[in-house]
Amino acid sequence: MKIALFPGTFDPLTLGHLDLIKRGSALFDQLAVAVMTNESKKPLFTVDERVAQVKEAVSGLANVSVITAQGLTVDLMNKIGADYLMRGLRNTEDFRYERDISAMNNYLDDQCETVFFLAKPEYQHLSSSLLKEVTAAGGDISAYLPANINAALKKRLEERQLMQVKESNEKTR
Ligand code: ADP
Repeated sequence: MKIALFPGTFDPLTLGHLDLIKRGSALFDQLAVAVMTNESKKPLFTVDERVAQVKEAVSGLANVSVITAQGLTVDLMNKIGADYLMRGLRNTEDFRYERDISAMNNYLDDQCETVFFLAKPEYQHLSSSLLKEVTAAGGDISAYLPANINAALKKRLEERQLMQVKESNEKTR
């Protein structure tokens, strides 16, 4: 049985991520999507919110599960019995970064095989951070996110902006 792990921050999940998940679900017998806690990235959505968003997006894929994790990827792979690590490549920056991570994972566990998926051309320019930036500035990027996530992103950024206005009003008082 071919079991793969696809770890990421997914803050939030984009259609680029979802395309990879669909392709991975067709290639592997089982695919576990791991929402990484990664507090150093200061996520906009909590880990529970991200897990719920990803679960909703993959609900039609019977062999895909959603888990949450922190720590070493190779430890998580051993825990769930995964032999394959799935990652996406959008550009040469991703390639350089992912090549080093892959080599390090191999050093930590020589059984860890990373399988790279090239991003589809229509998603190559997408990153969660760019989508957050554009949404915060009032741009419509609904074509790049599942509908529930697009709505949640707009709501969260509006809440943030209101909080910032409130804070700066309190400071100037
Ligand atoms: P991380 O913090 O692990 O980079 P991300 O959520 O940003 O988490 O990305 C998870 C994985 O998805 C990475 O392998 C990344 O290269 C890939 N990825 C991100 N955006 C896209 C996209 N638009 N198309 C294909 N793969 C993507």
